[in-house]
Amino acid sequence: MKAIVVKPGEKGATLKDVELKETVGENEVKLRTLRVGICGTDRGIVTGKLSFARPPEGADYLVLGHEGLARAEEVGQNVDLKEGDLVVPVVRRGCSKCLNCKIGRQDFCETGEFIEAGIRGMQGFMREEFVDDAKYLVKVPRDLGELAVLAEPLSNVMKAYNELVFVQKRSVWNCDDSTFGCRKATIIGSGPIGQFFAMVFKDNGFKVTVVNRRDPNQIEDKISRVVGYSFVNTSKGLDDVPESDVIVDTSGYPSAFIPLLRKMKRNGVLLLFGTVGGEKAEITSDLITFFVEYNISVIGSVNASKLDFEQGMTFLSVWKSRYNGVLQDMITKVVKPEETQDAILEKEKGSIKTVIEWSK
Ligand SMILES: [Zn+2]
Repeated sequence: MKAIVVKPGEKGATLKDVELKETVGENEVKLRTLRVGICGTDRGIVTGKLSFARPPEGADYLVLGHEGLARAEEVGQNVDLKEGDLVVPVVRRGCSKCLNCKIGRQDFCETGEFIEAGIRGMQGFMREEFVDDAKYLVKVPRDLGELAVLAEPLSNVMKAYNELVFVQKRSVWNCDDSTFGCRKATIIGSGPIGQFFAMVFKDNGFKVTVVNRRDPNQIEDKISRVVGYSFVNTSKGLDDVPESDVIVDTSGYPSAFIPLLRKMKRNGVLLLFGTVGGEKAEITSDLITFFVEYNISVIGSVNASKLDFEQGMTFLSVWKSRYNGVLQDMITKVVKPEETQDAILEKEKGSIKTVIEWSK
């Protein structure tokens, strides 16, 4: 079958014929790949910047792709899915040693011996078909269709949001009408992850501001109006950034979030989500004093559980009708498998999410 393949130590990704012998066990499903999203992790692997990327044991190549959407074609006898059902596969598979992995929370694996589809130690979803264990498959609601290709990036945002709410139980954080309506969240970065954070916070009652070092492009401007958040260009100054209870960084650049910390309210949270910015930053005693005196929590968050995928799927269904056309607008480009490398390497102005169409 055709697959997008990367080799360790080599840059670039190629469309190749590969032979992967996979049979369908009683708890497994054979899947036809429909769409696979491209993200910064794929870009990091293809450009050789992500050193932890590796093929499965014994293989000399890695099939790329972790934002999958597929259709069930052959279903094992113990599986509660039907032929034709759409599913999204979970990315990370646990170590089977630590307690978190044993209860399906491999996103909190303690040994670090997990594998991740299309990233480290497991073949990914940029291929015509694959077989997977049903316990790692999330069923797509019937009304959502191919927009479910957005479920994987959203699942990571759901997990981070759930962590934040859990950590904030350290004090009373709800407002005097029981909601989060008095709380403000500022999101750094307006890519797909930034947009999803904005929507999740907005739908949980927060007042939301998205910041970038430029003005919004046409699509971002439309999304901000439909969803109902403010967009601030921080290259023009920070005056329009409100005092915030939560600051989420999706950029990975300390120079983007450190200056914003003076907008942080007491008992606030800095949620770090971006990586590989490649910058160095200085931590001063003043900054430490601020974190201490203001009870600031810092949360780093990666990956997501199947529960987070399911929650994300529900949000996508709601947004499909509530934010008319916005999810469709976020998929700014659909490419063929043979265009994958170019699509991964180019970062077109105004693009939000590029997906590869493998099958209809
Ligand atoms: Zn583990």
